[in-house]
Amino acid sequence: MRKDLMKAYESDASQLNGKALDVVHPKTIMEVRSIVARTPRIVLRGAGTGLAGGCVPLNGLDVVLDLSKLDFIGSLDKERRVIEVGAGVVLDDLQNYLAKSNLEFPIDPSGRKVCIIGGMIATDAVGSRMIKYGKISSWIKWVDIVDGYGNLHRKGVTELSDYVGMEGITGVIVRACLKLLPLKNRTASLVKVESLEEVVSIVRDLKRNSMISMIEFLDKKISKGLELTEDYHLIIEYEDDSGLLKEEDYRELMKMRDKIYSFVVNEGYARIEDPRIMIDRFVKLMSWLEGVGIPTFGHIGVGILHPCFSRDQEKYIPEMMKVVKRLSGQISGEYGIGILKINLVDMGDKKILINVKKRTDPLNKFNVGKVI
Ligand SMILES: Cc1cc2nc3c(=O)[nH]c(=O)nc-3n(C[C@H](O)[C@H](O)[C@H](O)COP(=O)(O)OP(=O)(O)OC[C@H]3O[C@@H](n4cnc5c(N)ncnc54)[C@H](O)[C@@H]3O)c2cc1C
Repeated sequence: MRKDLMKAYESDASQLNGKALDVVHPKTIMEVRSIVARTPRIVLRGAGTGLAGGCVPLNGLDVVLDLSKLDFIGSLDKERRVIEVGAGVVLDDLQNYLAKSNLEFPIDPSGRKVCIIGGMIATDAVGSRMIKYGKISSWIKWVDIVDGYGNLHRKGVTELSDYVGMEGITGVIVRACLKLLPLKNRTASLVKVESLEEVVSIVRDLKRNSMISMIEFLDKKISKGLELTEDYHLIIEYEDDSGLLKEEDYRELMKMRDKIYSFVVNEGYARIEDPRIMIDRFVKLMSWLEGVGIPTFGHIGVGILHPCFSRDQEKYIPEMMKVVKRLSGQISGEYGIGILKINLVDMGDKKILINVKKRTDPLNKFNVGKVI
């Protein structure tokens, strides 16, 4: 590929930059197999919406394998509610296709207009509806994998954990069979909240309601940026009629929620983190974040927060990690490790990951220098 065109494949939404040896765009699984068999070092790329640098090539040694052209939608079994799709299918395209049959895929992250199924599986993506539907790993029947020799394997439920959430260090996901749900008719409410303590108490109550599919938190700064009042807000989504906002009003609220990422990035808060903490530690973490002026939103129903740092504020990130660990939280609730958090992986986890890598990728071909 021409050097000037390669630039777009040397970064991702984390805004980290690397250098590629070349970029290739296979259109079929056969092409993936033959490229993989003859290439010594490969970085796997979905849509590049990852926020941890997982698909950024390092040191000019890696060939970027762009999987976005594997965008075939295969057979849909409406009775058993499963569908086979290529790794390159954009989530939004899948949802639109399924809606015609009154079905949906329950994992719905905010990057849905761009992110593709292979990248979502590799990061074990969660969506705003994690409180009800968990992670993508719960919605996969099998995946087809290409190994470092170019061989194709089908991996069922018992072997999924070698590939789902492994951020592409173990093999290329080329196709998957996904489980579906009947299309839901949802409603929502937008609630203004006076204090962080009140947020905790409301969220605790709401979590008892099994019809709730989303509880999103907006801090004062983000609320103001979205043209709400300068207060804390909760967006609460229901899978029944309980929400005050229905049909067009519901859709407008969801559109507003989708603007959060572009708002924070346009305001210069381009480094978005994803710590996860227990709800009873929320006030402590938020008070620290507010103390250093970090705008924050997140999936409060499951304890995942997105503090957004400007360039000048990035110096606070290591300190925030320490606060999160002190509060017994996780440093990454949904974006993964990639390159950005490689030094923060726990020694015990690292040993397990190295063993899985040796077993699944003995040629050490895929995403070298990522995660471990
Ligand atoms: C605006 C915005 C909103 C977001 N919202 C959410 C959210 O709500 N929830 C959430 O979980 N994430 C979210 N993310 C993060 C990101 O969208 C997800 O991690 C997404 O699943 C990545 O998909 P992708 O296709 O862009 O993958 P990429 O960024 O291209 O790749 C991600 C990782 O997967 C590997 N990979 C890609 N394709 C394959 C494959 N076929 N086989 C093996 N490995 C592969 C790559 O090497 C890399 O390590 C958001 C990001 C943005 C920019």
